[in-house]
Amino acid sequence: MAIETLEFRAEVKQLLDLMIHSLYSHKEIFLRELISNASDAIDRARYESLTDKDIAEDQNGWKIRISVDKSAGRLMVSDNGIGMTRDEVVKALGTIAHSGTKEFFEALRNKDIKVNPELIGQFGVGFYSSFMVADRVTVLSRRAGSGSKNGVKWESRGDGLFTVEDIEKKGKGTDVILHLKDDEKKYLDEWEIKSIVKKYSDFIEHPIVMEVEREKQSELDKTKKVNIREDETLNSQKALWLKDRSEISEEEYNEFYRHVSHDLAGPARVIHYRAEGTNEFTALLYIPSRKPFDIFYKEFRIGPALYVKRVQIMDHCEELIPPYLRFIKGVVDSSDLPLNVSREILQNNRQVEVIRKSLTKKVLDTLGEMKKNEFDKYLGFYREFGKVLKEGVHLDYARREQIADLLLFESTKTEEGKYRTLQAYVDDMKDGQEDIYYITGTSRSDLLRSPYLEAFKAKGYEVFLMLDEIDDFILGGLEFKGKKLKSAVKGDISLDKSEKEDREKSKDRYKKLVVFMKERLKDEVKDVRLSGRLMDSPCCLVSEEGDPDPNMERLLKAMGQDLPAVKRILEINPVHPLIEAMNKFVERDVKGAALEEYVDILYDQALLLEGSKPKDPVALTKAVSRLIVEDLEHSAK
Ligand code: ADP
Repeated sequence: MAIETLEFRAEVKQLLDLMIHSLYSHKEIFLRELISNASDAIDRARYESLTDKDIAEDQNGWKIRISVDKSAGRLMVSDNGIGMTRDEVVKALGTIAHSGTKEFFEALRNKDIKVNPELIGQFGVGFYSSFMVADRVTVLSRRAGSGSKNGVKWESRGDGLFTVEDIEKKGKGTDVILHLKDDEKKYLDEWEIKSIVKKYSDFIEHPIVMEVEREKQSELDKTKKVNIREDETLNSQKALWLKDRSEISEEEYNEFYRHVSHDLAGPARVIHYRAEGTNEFTALLYIPSRKPFDIFYKEFRIGPALYVKRVQIMDHCEELIPPYLRFIKGVVDSSDLPLNVSREILQNNRQVEVIRKSLTKKVLDTLGEMKKNEFDKYLGFYREFGKVLKEGVHLDYARREQIADLLLFESTKTEEGKYRTLQAYVDDMKDGQEDIYYITGTSRSDLLRSPYLEAFKAKGYEVFLMLDEIDDFILGGLEFKGKKLKSAVKGDISLDKSEKEDREKSKDRYKKLVVFMKERLKDEVKDVRLSGRLMDSPCCLVSEEGDPDPNMERLLKAMGQDLPAVKRILEINPVHPLIEAMNKFVERDVKGAALEEYVDILYDQALLLEGSKPKDPVALTKAVSRLIVEDLEHSAK
């Protein structure tokens, strides 16, 4: 096919524009991105070579080469990895495949990236960073396993267009050639290149070689020195995870973390251990301190990289870690899995299962230890990842109590932004208190004023304030240290025995009123009963224990979900003067219009108190206005 000129997709144009005109610092990361792509390409080729005999390692081994042409102002990064076909080149270097494009632009607009261009790698737009330093980029590539006639040349000036053309290319793999801008020629300097490689790519497993000039003693005349050119490997290629912990510095750990996570902020914790015995493996895991922007996306890639005897099998192996620990980054290197292990094998493999169990335990234990010994650091972690971790209470039945022990909540006993654990709650429970209570909502101040908490406050019982929508869903039905977690807005609440006895006694007294109210509200509520949770308010609406939480219900409705209407229970406060007065009215058997209207007002009040709309706002306003007038006229007499 002849030479073809194509246009970049709109988002690439925008990206390139920003790359070229807005990013001025840390430009050297372009080299890290190109090396990282080359290394990935070699990993893929090596993996495919295990099953595809047409793809084989070169005689000189897998290699990444950096070459410099000073007179032409060109810098080249080559690999003998998997390479690309013409179609693949057009797709890979003409669009942005990554789902995070929108977030990338948002981050750019928020200046995050300008201040911290390390983020570029995280957004999967690495290749385009070449245009920060080059005014023209040429890519020569050939897919491994295809003949030398099947090469392709891609070229662009980063101006919105690129060309592709069939070429002949001797070796498989890819050459990326940067025609450096005039003021970026320093990247041709040997020392500069060496220091960038050392800084960002020292751990790359494949050799990164460059031809360098060296002074040597002449073989012919030992008194003379001559300059010769020879290959030098610039990276130490150490598989960091296989070294002994005592031999690894914090800086080395952090550097490797940056390599696996593309996160510049250091990790919150490093977990590095070796499992011996029938299932041998080494794990180097990191608990990050900062949440990746896409952790709640479907496309988020879960799991540490999987190696078998130092050979990378896949860069994210989700079988190794449960989804609620998906923030974990790192490497697992197994000595026992077969090299050609496939996805299907991984899914039902006992050894993988053993590794997963071990990693899960290690991570949870480490978090527990952090919470105990380094609470501030743990809090930082929790603010970023608590929401993810919480999913485990729901998903991992066997470990739910251990995970619950890692959760933090605000409560009626904390200040805003301060947290309590379930254990602390249980330790401080009042005599006679049997359950752990929580209330869910969207704002702390609303919750604190909630009528549902009146009796809890009066008794000095602590109540967790849960501000995350999924809390009720995840925590309802949980038991911690033998104590049930109960929602303060659901079910019949009785804070202690004497209160319950008093209420039993009142039941008879209020019998008629309750019957009257039930009849009047029979279409609205499923029951009317005396409350054990109210002190100052006359009434409130509650759900039955298994029913959805009203906060959750509102949320689901707002999201457009069609929910069956679940009737609630109206609870009335037996010690409130309003209820007592109404009761007297009923006792005297003077039923009729007025009392029915008051029951309606009472019900509307209950709706208002829980944050819902009154049933009939017009009727309510009219009734209240009329009552005010009557009261004022009465007072004036
Ligand atoms: P990312 O590497 O995060 O996917 P890049 O913009 O760096 O994003 O690269 C885009 C795509 O181009 C890669 O996903 C890969 O398919 C392809 N690519 C880039 N460099 C190479 C290379 N050296 N060999 C093979 N494919 C490459």
